[in-house]
Amino acid sequence: MAETQGKVITCRAAVAWGPKEPLVIQEICVDPPQEMEVRVKILYTSICHTDLGTWTGVNEAERAFPRILGHEAVGVVESVGEGVKDVKEGDYVIPTFNGECGECRVCKKEVSNLCERYKVDPMKRLMVSDGGTRFSTTTNKDGGSSQSQRIYHFLNTSTFTEYTVLDSACVVKIDPNAPLKQMSLLSCGVSTGVGAAWNTAKVKEGTTTAVFGLGSVGLAVAEGARARGASRIIGVDANASKFEKGKLMGVTDFINPKDLTKPVHERIRELTRGGVDYSFECTGNVDVLREAFLSTHAGWGSTVLVGIYATPRTLPLHPMELFDGRKITGSVFGGFKPKSQLPSFAQQCMKGVVKLEPFITNELPFEKINDAFQLLRDGKSLRCLLQIAKFLKK
Ligand code: NAD
Ligand code: ZN
Ligand code: ZN
Repeated sequence: MAETQGKVITCRAAVAWGPKEPLVIQEICVDPPQEMEVRVKILYTSICHTDLGTWTGVNEAERAFPRILGHEAVGVVESVGEGVKDVKEGDYVIPTFNGECGECRVCKKEVSNLCERYKVDPMKRLMVSDGGTRFSTTTNKDGGSSQSQRIYHFLNTSTFTEYTVLDSACVVKIDPNAPLKQMSLLSCGVSTGVGAAWNTAKVKEGTTTAVFGLGSVGLAVAEGARARGASRIIGVDANASKFEKGKLMGVTDFINPKDLTKPVHERIRELTRGGVDYSFECTGNVDVLREAFLSTHAGWGSTVLVGIYATPRTLPLHPMELFDGRKITGSVFGGFKPKSQLPSFAQQCMKGVVKLEPFITNELPFEKINDAFQLLRDGKSLRCLLQIAKFLKK
C-alpha cells in the first residue's frame, strides 16, 4: 500500500491563473480520492489544442481560474477510493476526458460513447461526488503565505500536475509493457482523430477523404483513413510546414488555402470529380467547417466535425443545403467508449496498424510547459511531451 494513501499529497503543478497568463509551476495540495475516484501520478502529459483554447479563454463561459488544465497523459495509480474495482495501485493508466460508467442507458447501448454521467463537459470544474475540488493552493501565487484556495478541475482529467484525482469512469488501464510515451497520445488526439475516421465516418477502402487542419487530430484522421485503405486523402492546412508530416500519414494531396484564388471546396470538387466521400473539420473554425461540408459529394458526402468552436457562432449552413444529401455529424473522442474499446485500440497501435511515433515532435521537462504551449500556438509542434515523473517500472 502506498504510504501516501489516505493522505493529502503536496506536489508540483502548472496552474492557470487567468486567460493567457503564463502557467505557474507551484506547490499544490492534492486530496485523497473519494468514493469511486482514483489518484494518479502523472508520468507524461502533452498539450492539445483544447487546452490552448481554454487557456486563451476564447470561450468566456468556460473560464474558471485558478485551474489545472491538461487532458492528454499517461500515469500510474497511486491509490483508489472506496468502490473502485477495475484499477488498483501500481496500474498504468491513461486518463480520458470522456468517461464510461458502464451502467447508464448510453453506456449500455452501442450507438454512442457519451456516457450520461461522465461525458465530456467543458463547463465542469468540480468533482461529481461532493461538488468539491481535490486541488488547493499551499500558498498564493506570489509565494507569500495566504489562505489555501481551491483550484478547479478541467475536462474530467487535469493532467498538468504531478498528481491528479479523477472519477474512476475516466481512467483506462493499459498494458504495462506498452510504450508509455506513445500511450499518452491515446488519451485524446490520436484516439479522437483515428476514431472519427473509423467509428464516426466509418471510412471504407478505396474512398476519398479531405482533412481540414493537419494538427495531431487531423493527422490522426488521415492515419486512420490510410489504415482503412482510403485511396485519396487531401490535406488542407494554412501552415505548409504540416505537409511534410502529412505524407507519413498517407496524405496524398495538399492544399494551402492561401495559395488559392477560389474557395477550397471548389478545388477539392475539381480534384475528385464532384467532391470527396468524407471530410473532417479539425481546425475549430466555423468558416472552415462550411468549406469542409461543401467539399463532399452531393448525395452521399459525409462531414465529421471534430474541432471545438467558441460560442456564440452557429453552424454556417442554409437548411436547404441539406437537401443536396450531404450529411454532417459531430465526433467526441472519436466515438470510442474509453474503458471498453481503448485497450483493444491500444493493442492495434502496438501492432503498427496505426503509427504513433510521428505524433511526438518535441519533448521538454515539465518546467518548460509555457514553451510547449508556445510551440503549439506557433504551429511548430504536433505533440510536445512533458516528462513529469520518472518511470516507476518495477
Ligand atoms: P492543432 O493546433 O495542433 O492543429 C490545428 C491545425 O489547423 C493547425 O495545423 C493549423 O495550422 C490548422 N488551421 C487552423 N486554422 C486554419 C484555417 N483557417 N485553414 C486551414 N488550416 C487551419 O490542434 P489539434 O490539437 O490537432 O486539435 C484540432 C481541433 O480538434 C481543435 O479545435 C481541438 O480543440 C479539437 N479537438 C476535438 C476533440 C473532440 O473530441 N471532438 C478532441 C481533441 C481536440
Ligand atoms: Zn484534446
Ligand atoms: Zn455511462
